[in-house]
Amino acid sequence: MVAARDEPSLERFLPMRDQGVLLSASDIDTYRACPLRYKFARVFRIPQEPTLNQRFGIAVHQVLERYHAAAEEGPGDASHGPTPPGSLTQLLTLLESSWRRGGFGDSDEERQLHQKAVAALTRYHERAQADTGTPVWFERQFNFRLGPHLVRGRVDRVDRLPSGEFELIDYKTGRPRSAEQLANDVQLSLYAIAAREAWGLEATRGAYYYLLDDQKVTIPGTAERAEWIRGVATQVAEGIKAQEFEPTPSARACRLCDYRLACPAAER
Ligand code: SF4
Repeated sequence: MVAARDEPSLERFLPMRDQGVLLSASDIDTYRACPLRYKFARVFRIPQEPTLNQRFGIAVHQVLERYHAAAEEGPGDASHGPTPPGSLTQLLTLLESSWRRGGFGDSDEERQLHQKAVAALTRYHERAQADTGTPVWFERQFNFRLGPHLVRGRVDRVDRLPSGEFELIDYKTGRPRSAEQLANDVQLSLYAIAAREAWGLEATRGAYYYLLDDQKVTIPGTAERAEWIRGVATQVAEGIKAQEFEPTPSARACRLCDYRLACPAAER
């Protein structure tokens, strides 16, 4: 058995805070995809080599983070006005320096990704001038208690909408998914609870902003799904605490798993 119950206790390696588990949206997704994968990544902390697409996503996120940080100091308070965006030149200059630091080469694939980044950031800049929402926070961190457990994370951007509602935005550089495909999405549902409990924002909605396609997919009713996501997160945290790491192989999960070559349970 890969995860025999009589194996030595892993208690001191678990990500714990006081009596509870430290948890993020990504931890929950990883554990739900396969508990053994979670164990490899978060308990054994076996390093994962990021793919080219993952490095690309990180670089684009960093560019936007630096771009907004470099703009006039944000209000830090939703009652103030918008943070003026910087120029397009500034944005593309940040891309060039991130690109160099990211160690990208000049293969065809890397050159194509660079072109996609330029096009996406140009559209991002255009949209920023025309958006009706007002960005009020970038890269805002949160943590909140879920029983004994502590959930933490960071929201890429929060906009205040003309309706008075707040939009919690997560940037994506992958292929767009529809609201229906995102019906069981964990991340934005967790952010809605965080916004209420950590920041005191009652009315929120979530959106994934697919940068390469300039497409924003809003997830309705994320706040209403609070009970569902609380249950999911609690179940995952209790599973981790109880050291339940049995593999749940499937063609889809294993195909996307960094540990498939070493994993004896991998579905091949
Ligand atoms: S290869 Fe499959 S079974 Fe093994 S850890 Fe990854 S997802 Fe789980």
